[in-house]
Amino acid sequence: MTARTSQRSLSRPWALVLAFLGLLAVSASAAEQSYYDNSMLDMMEFMRRGQAQLDLEALDNGRKLLTKYDFIVVGAGTAGCALAARLSENPKWKVLLLEAGGPESYAMDMPIVAHYLQLGEMNWKYRTEPSASYCLAMNNNRCNWPRGKVMGGSSVLNYMMYTRGSRRDYDRWAELGNPGWSYRDVLPYFRKYEASNIPDADPGPTRPGRQGPVKISYTEPRTRIADAFVRASQEAGMPRGDYNGETQLRVSYLQANVYNETRWSSNRAYLYPLKGKRTNLHVKKNALVTKVLIDPQTKTAYGIMVQTEGRVQKVLARREVVVSAGAINTPQLLMLSGVGPAKHLREVGIKPIADLAVGYNLQDHIAPAAVRLLEEPAFRAIGARLLEKRLPGCSHLRWRSSDYWACHARHFTFTIYHYSGTAKMGPSSDPAAVVDARLRVHGIRNLRVADASIMPHLISGHPNGPVYLIAEKAADMIKQDHNYVL
Ligand SMILES: Cc1cc2nc3c(=O)[nH]c(=O)nc-3n(C[C@H](O)[C@H](O)[C@H](O)COP(=O)(O)OP(=O)(O)OC[C@H]3O[C@@H](n4cnc5c(N)ncnc54)[C@H](O)[C@@H]3O)c2cc1C
Repeated sequence: MTARTSQRSLSRPWALVLAFLGLLAVSASAAEQSYYDNSMLDMMEFMRRGQAQLDLEALDNGRKLLTKYDFIVVGAGTAGCALAARLSENPKWKVLLLEAGGPESYAMDMPIVAHYLQLGEMNWKYRTEPSASYCLAMNNNRCNWPRGKVMGGSSVLNYMMYTRGSRRDYDRWAELGNPGWSYRDVLPYFRKYEASNIPDADPGPTRPGRQGPVKISYTEPRTRIADAFVRASQEAGMPRGDYNGETQLRVSYLQANVYNETRWSSNRAYLYPLKGKRTNLHVKKNALVTKVLIDPQTKTAYGIMVQTEGRVQKVLARREVVVSAGAINTPQLLMLSGVGPAKHLREVGIKPIADLAVGYNLQDHIAPAAVRLLEEPAFRAIGARLLEKRLPGCSHLRWRSSDYWACHARHFTFTIYHYSGTAKMGPSSDPAAVVDARLRVHGIRNLRVADASIMPHLISGHPNGPVYLIAEKAADMIKQDHNYVL
């Protein structure tokens, strides 16, 4: 890490602490003494936790890159942190984890600031192209597509909602020619990473794991609106229960990757416990991988080019390169490396090495609306109603008609940032497939993809948990393929 970046990483949380202190000073003068005492305690606790986090983040700084590692993992996001932690369990393997962004800070892990993180440099700040048919209410008709650029990746930017998805999602993946991915097959991997604190979780055969690294808790405190939502859903006929259990059509309070009022990112879950203990794992921050090196004759990946500390360096991989750069950057990096649609690569001056449908299968979820629930007694009891403010661009249409909602969707074209599928898993007979069921890039040796990109179909839930599952399974498959006894 450069002197400039390490100074930056220290100064940001302290600036936040000072701002927080200023706020306290103003509010304390008008508030009760007891409130002031509590706030002081909260602030001291905030500083204590912030310092503890800085200590954990700082330990890996400053090490020089070696010329060769056994495995190089690109991207320390949800998948990358998990994968690097698992691969480095073999003390004989040297593992390098490269992350384009900087350190995670405690300020980022206060759930209430989640939305504001999109404004900072921990977001890649991607935007859609201007359009005449969607994102019409946004500046220049462009929507934001946030992606984490920080240790922990999008698990640091996300809203922490935890779902496994439906069992049918995984059974469908398997039916598409991906052996080993049915719900039955993947269930042990959910349990392996889960550290569920959900007291009334379904105790049946799909019960959650309790001992893994990724914490899952009910969010606290509960608001009146949350109470009304759960009750209104039950009034509308949805049974109360564990929506991550045996039967997933259930309503409950939110299960979230939160513990002790703190975001439980992949960095916190998998890497903090290893800081200073795993000498065969090298984590390099502020390191942008610009290319995977692939021999065009043997079609074998043998290293990467990385931009870090003000220069571009070559680092070799003795065994494999694993790309975990997320559903937007993974296809970009593959294409920069000659893996992608050959015609398109030639158009932009890149020599194709493997002609694959990289980027073609992009999928996402649109933001759901729960307008109907407002009619239920539980919502009526708290006087909830839809804000009757019509969009100027849609005011010519009948209020709440289908045409009105269609027009509304074209203006506020929100997806919920679940990008996936851009390096689709499938057999070589599938023209849209990029990786096989062991996540190896078709036609290229020693190169895998392990992140949200590989989902053949986006699961019908929030994907962060399923990405942990992908990483855990990838780690086991890599260990098997290199004869490391599990
Ligand atoms: C705002 C937001 C809210 C969300 N809310 C939820 C939610 O509530 N629940 C849920 O389950 N899911 C949610 N998601 C989705 C979920 O967080 C993602 O699906 C998941 O984090 C994807 O993991 P990944 O490993 O595929 O990619 P990421 O976590 O994005 O990791 C990719 C990493 O690779 C790094 N990288 C990229 N390119 C390079 C390069 N060339 N060199 C080096 N490093 C590179 C990136 O900086 C990043 O750290 C949300 C996402 C966002 C953005």
